[in-house]
Amino acid sequence: MKSMDCLRNGLPAALAAGLWAVCAPAGAQSTAVLSADHTTPGDVVTYGMGYSQQRFSPLKQINARTVSRLVPVWAMGTNNSLGDEAQPLVSGGMMYYTTGKSTYAVDALTGRMAWKHELEYGPDIGRAALSGQVNRGPALYEGKLFRTTLDAQVLALDAKTGKELWKSKSADYKQGYSMSVAPLVANGVLITGIGCGEHGGRGYIEAWDPETGKQLWRKYTIPAPGEPGSETWPEGDAWTRGGGPAWLTGSYDPALDLVFWGVGNASPWNAQDRRGDNLYTASVLAMRPKTGEVVWYYQFTPNDTFDFDGNNELVQADILVAGKPRKVVMQANRNGFLYVLDRVSGELLAANAFTRQTWAEGIDMKTGRPVETAAVKKMRETGDWVTVAPAAFGGKNWNPMSFSPATGLLYANVLDNEWDYRPAKQPYEAGAPYIAMEAKWRFDQKAGGALKALDPVTGKAKWQHPWTIASFSGTLATAGDLVFTGNMTGEFAAFHAGTGQKLWSFQTSSGIVSQPITWEHGGRQYVTVASGIGTVYLFFAGDERLATVPPGGTLWTFALMP
Ligand code: CA
Ligand code: CA
Repeated sequence: MKSMDCLRNGLPAALAAGLWAVCAPAGAQSTAVLSADHTTPGDVVTYGMGYSQQRFSPLKQINARTVSRLVPVWAMGTNNSLGDEAQPLVSGGMMYYTTGKSTYAVDALTGRMAWKHELEYGPDIGRAALSGQVNRGPALYEGKLFRTTLDAQVLALDAKTGKELWKSKSADYKQGYSMSVAPLVANGVLITGIGCGEHGGRGYIEAWDPETGKQLWRKYTIPAPGEPGSETWPEGDAWTRGGGPAWLTGSYDPALDLVFWGVGNASPWNAQDRRGDNLYTASVLAMRPKTGEVVWYYQFTPNDTFDFDGNNELVQADILVAGKPRKVVMQANRNGFLYVLDRVSGELLAANAFTRQTWAEGIDMKTGRPVETAAVKKMRETGDWVTVAPAAFGGKNWNPMSFSPATGLLYANVLDNEWDYRPAKQPYEAGAPYIAMEAKWRFDQKAGGALKALDPVTGKAKWQHPWTIASFSGTLATAGDLVFTGNMTGEFAAFHAGTGQKLWSFQTSSGIVSQPITWEHGGRQYVTVASGIGTVYLFFAGDERLATVPPGGTLWTFALMP
C-alpha cells in the first residue's frame, strides 16, 4: 500500500483526492485544506476538528442505531504515565499524536508505528510544568508537524520521517515558563501561547514562520507601562509578574481573518497587591494572525482572584440570538458562566451560569462585568475565608466541549465543586510557584458534575448525564446523533445527542482525559481516543476512588464490526 500510494503524489489533485496517499504531499495541509477541515471527514488536520473548534463531524455511519456494533480495531501504547491529553491528527494515511515527551506517527488503519520522536527534559522540569507534564496535540502544515515542549520550545518535524527541521526557544523554563499548547496555523502563520500563570510570569501569544522557525511577533497579554490597558495595573511593578498565560489553542475564522485566543489568570491568585482590572488577564483576544494586532477583547473576570483563568476553548458557530442570526464565539468559562460573544465585534450577547456558582450575582449585560456577591467583596476587603463555587478547577476545565449544528447544543463535561479560599502573603521568587492563597478543596463524592447538553444562549441543560467522579474528557458530536466522551475510570461512551441516553460504552485501559476524534477511510468511519489518566484533578484532588485506575497511555481506534 505504501509504495503504491507514494506514486500517487504525482497524480493530478482531482484524481489523488479519492485515494489516500501515505506519503502525503506538502500541499496536503495547505491553508485551503486546513480551512475546509470540518467538511472533509477523510482527515483531521486541525485542533478542534475545524478552525471553529466545533468538534462536530458530518459522518453518520456510526449512529444511534449502529453504535452498539462499535469495537476496537487497534490500540497503541504511548509509553506515558503523566496523562494523555492530546488530540490526534489524521492526514495522508498517518495518525499523529503527542505526549509530553513523545511524538508518534502511526498508520491510521493498523496502528503500526511509522516513526517516533523523543524529547529529553531536565530533572527540574516538573517545577515549571506545575499543572501537568502533558501536551495537547500537534499541528500540521505543508508537510511539517509542529509541537510545543514542556521546556518552552517550539519544534518542527518532517511529517513523513519525524526528522527534526527546526527548534525555537520561546522562554527559559527555569523561570517558570512551560508549553503544552497544540499550535495553530492560521493564514500561514504558526501561533503558540505560553504557560506561566502559577509562576508570576508575564504571558504572551507569539507567532513563528512555519518554514524557518523565525519568530514573527509576540503579543504580551500584560501591557507594559504606557501601552493600552496599562492603566488597569496601577500598582507599581505588579504587571511584571502579572500572569496572563495563553496555554490553550485559539480558534480561527478565516473569513474574518481573526484568531480568538483565551488568556488566563492574573498572578498571583491573591489580588490584594495588584488592584485594577489587570487587562488582558482572564480575557479573550481577537487578533490578526499576520501581525498579532488585537482587534477587540473581552474580559470575563476582571481582577481574577480565584484562578478562573479564561483559557478554555473558544467555539465558533452561527446561531440565532434573540431571533437574529449572529456569528458568535462561545466559552464555558471556569468561573461557571457560559459566554456568547459576537465574534465580529466582541459584543456580549449572553452570559448565563451553566453549573452551580456562588461567587457572582450574575453578569451585568450593560457593562459585561460580573457582579460579585457580598461574601466575595468582604473577602477582598478583609482577607477573610470565603466559600465559593466553582473552585479553581472551574465549572468546566480545559477539556473541550463540542457544538452540534444539528441540535444547536453544546456538549460539555461540567464540574460541580467548591472551596474555602483566602488570600495569603507569599514573596515572589523567580521560577518558583507563586500563588499566594490558602485553600480547602471540597469535593462532594456524590456530585462529580455531569455531561451536559447546553443551550448556548440560556446556559440551561436540555439533558445531563451525571458523573460521580469529575470527568476531564473532551467531547465529540456527530451527525449520527451521537456524543462521544470518556471518564476518569476509563469508560469511553456514546450518548444520544438529542436525549442523552447512553447507547454504548467500552472500558479502556486507563482513565480518559483527552479529546476524541472521528474520521473515515474507504467508506468506513473510525473513532479514536487516547486513554491515560492524568490532570490536575488526579494529582491535587486526592480522590481515593481513582487509586485503582491503572496509569499509562494507550491510543484506541474503533469502528463498526463488519
Ligand atoms: Ca477534515
Ligand atoms: Ca491558572
